[in-house]
Amino acid sequence: MDLGIKGRRAIVCAGSKGLGRGCAEALAEAGAEIVLNARGVDALAATANDIEARFGVTVIPVAADITTPEGRAAVLDAAGDVDILVNNAGGPPPGVWSDWTREDFIKALDANMLAPIAMMQACLPGMMARGWGRVVNITSQSVRAPIAQLGLSNSARAGLTGFVAGTARQVAHAGVCINNLLPGLHATDRADALDGAVVRAEGITLDEARARRFANIPVGRYGTRAEFGAMCAFLCSTHAGFIVGQNILLDGGATNITI
Ligand code: NAP
Repeated sequence: MDLGIKGRRAIVCAGSKGLGRGCAEALAEAGAEIVLNARGVDALAATANDIEARFGVTVIPVAADITTPEGRAAVLDAAGDVDILVNNAGGPPPGVWSDWTREDFIKALDANMLAPIAMMQACLPGMMARGWGRVVNITSQSVRAPIAQLGLSNSARAGLTGFVAGTARQVAHAGVCINNLLPGLHATDRADALDGAVVRAEGITLDEARARRFANIPVGRYGTRAEFGAMCAFLCSTHAGFIVGQNILLDGGATNITI
């Protein structure tokens, strides 16, 4: 399927690895020019070069912390007029509800709520003026069903979800569609880190930790970044102009809900 976004300019935040990288790859495969962000210079350069070589599109790497105003300014300056925005950042650490301080909450809110909101505030006016735009926010399955030890994530992402629910309906008339993608467990560094924490806490092997998680996912495995990226690219396509303010769960059936 031609996604109709050849030559469109896309910002992919936090995209040198994992789910962000999957989104950048799928958008590049569809012909979009990419402004690719992450903090670490080496992994970012390697991913940008790889995507350019495989898909023949321009990839501009911007090494910056997207959770800071300076980082966002660097990304936005490099991008210019942007048609597609994929918001992402690292997830907050796991923990216990009684231990989290105000500082911990502010950090989580900055990364997983306020940074994507600031990026939308920066990009939406131009998209609306040009009459076309797509925004995908990478959130989490924890928006639909809380993950107790990820309370910082549950809290911050609920805030972003509320903002998107209202805002998506205010900008849709101008050809701009905002939606959220909710990953369940995917095979990325983040999943490795969470599995590693279980291995250390419970003295089990990595294979045992994974087998335990797979048992709770009806498809019996983690998702891949390619599967995730494909859905992101579709939401950014010309075909997705009637999809507005949705929260789309990609979790292999793990969240046991009816709708
Ligand atoms: P990942 O594999 O650890 O990759 C994270 C990417 O984001 C890396 O490219 C990293 O590069 C970049 N990054 C992190 N913090 C950044 C920052 N402040 N500014 C700019 N770039 C930053 O993570 P992932 O698994 O793809 O997860 C992506 C998001 O989805 C996270 O918020 C995570 O909580 C959420 N999620 C993931 C899963 C899953 O199973 N993977 C499930 C539910 C939710 P640098 O470190 O070099 O900056």
